[in-house]
Amino acid sequence: MSEDCIFCQIVDGEIPARVVYEDADVLAFLDANPLAPGHTLVIPKDHHETLDDVPPESGEMVFAALHSLTPIVEDVVDADASNVAFNNGEAAGQEVPHVHGHIIPRFDGDGGRPIHAIAGERPDLADDELDDIADDISAAAGE
Ligand code: AMP
Ligand code: ZN
Repeated sequence: MSEDCIFCQIVDGEIPARVVYEDADVLAFLDANPLAPGHTLVIPKDHHETLDDVPPESGEMVFAALHSLTPIVEDVVDADASNVAFNNGEAAGQEVPHVHGHIIPRFDGDGGRPIHAIAGERPDLADDELDDIADDISAAAGE
């Protein structure tokens, strides 16, 4: 628990939330300022700031909850699709420093944009730069 973390305070019941799912490791609740009806946040109960900080078992539980809740949320609000995403770190737009996955229901013609619209200009990367990046990620992932 981080004393001044608003999501830890929700976990502890110190501030109210519209909780939609809870188990030993994970809490899910409606976003207080929703981008769509059914906009849901899924968090590990333990305080971790970004995905990089989350232990593997906790990450698996968060993903399992996202996986099971997404079709339920879509059904309840009669959505056509959803964006499921993390703002992972301040530079990516994360405002609450307790890791959380967003389930944002989407509707045909809702005027929203795809995940490709999140970043700025597409970088102009040469083939050898892409090869180097892929090699570096692959090597680090195998460590
Ligand atoms: P992010 O920019 O990914 O950190 O998103 C934080 C999200 O938390 C925003 O969509 C807010 O609307 C939402 N939020 C902030 N405070 C609360 C709260 N007390 N209860 C529910 N959602 C909240
Ligand atoms: Zn927290």
